[in-house]
Amino acid sequence: MTQETGGFAALDLNPNIVAAVLATGYEEPSAIQQQSIPIILAGHDMIGQAQTGTGKTAAFALPILNKIDVSKREPQALILAPTRELALQVATAFETYAKQMPGVNVVAVYGGAPMGPQLRAIRNGAQIVVATPGRLCDHLRRDEKVLSTVQYLVLDEADEMLKLGFMDDLEVIFDAIPASRQTVLFSATLPSSIRSIAERHLREPKHVKIQSKTQTVTAIDQAHLMVHADQKIPAVLRLLEVEEFDALIAFVRTKQATLDLAAALEAKGYKAAALNGDIAQNQRERVIDSLKDGRLDIVVATDVAARGLDVPRITHVFNVDMPYDPESYVHRIGRTGRAGREGRALLLVTPRERRMLQVIERVTGQKVAEARLPNAQAVLDARIKKLTMSLAPLVAESEATHGELFDRLTADLGCSARALASALLRKATNGQALDLGAVEREQPLVPSFAPRGERTERADRGERREGGDRDRERRAPMPLAEGRVRCRTALGARDGIAAKNLLGAILNEGGLARDAIGRIQVRDSFSLIELPEDGLERLLTKLKDTRVAGKQLKLRRYRED
Ligand code: AMP
Repeated sequence: MTQETGGFAALDLNPNIVAAVLATGYEEPSAIQQQSIPIILAGHDMIGQAQTGTGKTAAFALPILNKIDVSKREPQALILAPTRELALQVATAFETYAKQMPGVNVVAVYGGAPMGPQLRAIRNGAQIVVATPGRLCDHLRRDEKVLSTVQYLVLDEADEMLKLGFMDDLEVIFDAIPASRQTVLFSATLPSSIRSIAERHLREPKHVKIQSKTQTVTAIDQAHLMVHADQKIPAVLRLLEVEEFDALIAFVRTKQATLDLAAALEAKGYKAAALNGDIAQNQRERVIDSLKDGRLDIVVATDVAARGLDVPRITHVFNVDMPYDPESYVHRIGRTGRAGREGRALLLVTPRERRMLQVIERVTGQKVAEARLPNAQAVLDARIKKLTMSLAPLVAESEATHGELFDRLTADLGCSARALASALLRKATNGQALDLGAVEREQPLVPSFAPRGERTERADRGERREGGDRDRERRAPMPLAEGRVRCRTALGARDGIAAKNLLGAILNEGGLARDAIGRIQVRDSFSLIELPEDGLERLLTKLKDTRVAGKQLKLRRYRED
């Protein structure tokens, strides 16, 4: 649960670490950080039950940084992560938190990259090694002493490591590290296999679990949308086109994110402001007053800054960044639906955060239905509806006040009434896209195409097979992954289509999660897209009328033979 705390400063961490953390924009420790940091600092073994999104990385990275001896240039902490992607993320997090600690070296060790430089980096004085188990075992086979100075061992996402078949590798690694080490294990779930590892390799571990009380949420219409992290701002902008809101609060995690989103909203003409812990109290009160009386319609806030905010006008809560725990989710969405009004809460979920969504659903005892981003047609309809509504009150009166002027202008310009009305509309709408083709072209929401390495690498075993083969991949058709089929559309490069357009259309209109879609190959006169076989017919029916770049997609299953 998000608690009133003395913040990071009260956690007994080295001031340089606290300064670096505050500089990244974190305002206060999350619940898992609040509980784990003192335990790890005190030297206990620990089992932390937490999933991605709770802030678990900093929960172990900060106390470990606090403990390492910068003057010793040898591996002191080893973090094991299931995938190359996570290993890189964790290594980057360490580097961020160590920004003000000169002399700290972090090395990421994973398959698919040459072993030599990794081994050299370890030997050349990296104090922190973040590794996937398979590749680390390869290093151990070359140099069995490489981990002999490690004093702190963290198993991150331990359940995922076991699912990927790393059990034997873990045993080899445990044996290669001095038994006097401190061991911390993080796992979203604690199946018996994990408990048995803990029994064998941890000493009197303390347990940390973010207790989740069941919460009830009523009168709030909730939905979630799957979005890639770098597509959140375009997603919010698109949602705002169709959501009919009075006032709205958008929650993000960092100060920087409040500023970025508020600036993007203002640039689109919304009356929006940021609310974060850096903003002086009297200024914060002004922001809230402005939201109350309608000078502002949108406030982009961190959880801390929004504490105690009670504005009855709020009809919508956007959870742009995932809350740390179900309680803060319930707390956030409770900002709407005040005074018996109906409220709506939307939650953006990145592929890695799906588990957190399940936890929220379990704790609240409610399904948070999946919604889709509005397509170009829905955006167009909403724009026309707004225009119609803004004109409706004028129609009744304007003929009396402006009718004569209109007649004179048609005469002076020698044009039809329709031509003049169209010109006036164009002027009044200020270049806004108001036909389908224009809306489609304008939509910024085209999810980025994740680099292949990032998506396909689930384990070192896979990494080894794939390492360094990018060129070959590009030339030869990739074999289809199990459960995937190739589909074909007659739209291709000559129609102005790029892979991201196809991806965007299928994600938005097909309602698929990003990682359900495989490779997209755009040729001149056609394109091939890998899609899940399961539910294909349904998907193709959903996409029946989908248009991309103004043309019908007409996706069909492609028979390879
Ligand atoms: P994790 O659960 O470790 O994957 O962290 C999820 C996200 O939360 C990462 O993007 C972190 O940068 C961010 N984060 C972690 N701790 C905090 C905090 N105390 N305040 C704000 N953001 C945080």
